[in-house]
Amino acid sequence: ETVKRKYVKEKKIGEGTYANVYRGHMRHDPSTLVAIKKIKHQDDYRDGMPPAAVREMKYLQELRHPNIIRLLDTFGTGVDTLNFVLEYLPLGDLEMLIRDVHRVRYGVADIKAWMGMLTRAVWFCHSNYVLHRDIKPNNLLIAADGEVKLADFGLAQSFADPGRRMTANVITRWYRPPELLFGARHYGGAVDVWSVAMVFAELIIRTPFLPGDSEFEQIALICKHIGTPTEENWPGVTQLRDYTVPSEVVPVWGKEAYMGRFGAVGADGVDLLVKTLALNPAKRITAHEMLQHRWWRADPKPTPKEDLPRKS
Ligand code: ADP
Repeated sequence: ETVKRKYVKEKKIGEGTYANVYRGHMRHDPSTLVAIKKIKHQDDYRDGMPPAAVREMKYLQELRHPNIIRLLDTFGTGVDTLNFVLEYLPLGDLEMLIRDVHRVRYGVADIKAWMGMLTRAVWFCHSNYVLHRDIKPNNLLIAADGEVKLADFGLAQSFADPGRRMTANVITRWYRPPELLFGARHYGGAVDVWSVAMVFAELIIRTPFLPGDSEFEQIALICKHIGTPTEENWPGVTQLRDYTVPSEVVPVWGKEAYMGRFGAVGADGVDLLVKTLALNPAKRITAHEMLQHRWWRADPKPTPKEDLPRKS
């Protein structure tokens, strides 16, 4: 099928919540593969355009970085259809690698490489005043050269205006930070950093760290495994609109407590993990500070992207 002269659409490769994704190539250069994301028309929205698609387009047009999926072009084939032309990322996503425990082996150097790419992507978003708000292994796609790319900006939001109230109903539950679970309407980059911490933990243990079945259970898991948010460790937390915690208060675990389960990344890696897991968002390490951490420079060095494990 020919799409507006410039691209040739091939087979369907995926289906998302608001779009079908096809493989394609440039008409005049068949060796340049692309992904064409065709937004499904939805009558419930003005112009048939889902808000997530509008956000995705807006933010991807602004953000250009090696670790953020590149929006190459957009085109419409009718009054109310929209297509995104994205760089083609054929090697699946980080979730596929984490889950394939029997066939995919990886170590600390690989985790360090993937975490470095993720952290740089998040730092770049934040330095451009964009919150991603849906960081999880499934949204980290892998390019042919092994580069990890942050994708799916359908929930992204600008945080340039600190006075503005934002919805707390973002980020997939297992990756959602305590401030959002407690209903905070003013928040910042720290929400993404918490998700990064959850990805980091999951890369190490190869299973989701805090897989709550409900928001209540999510809070309970945070309290049990990290510590109970209280006025002492997080002044003001009890004033958040949805603050509720199990009555038995668990003190915040120290670094030593993480060494057993997460020690594979070494003491420096665990130090970084603990700093990303600060309950109080004001005390949580920032993406920029994460990049200054000594763990990146400690041995083993991050695996070169070409040598990273791939899906089999
Ligand atoms: P969702 O709505 O689940 O977040 P998307 O609409 O972004 O997902 O994409 C759906 C599926 O299409 C993905 O799971 C992936 O398999 C595939 N896909 C999306 N973007 C690309 C891309 N740039 N290159 C290759 N495959 C892609």
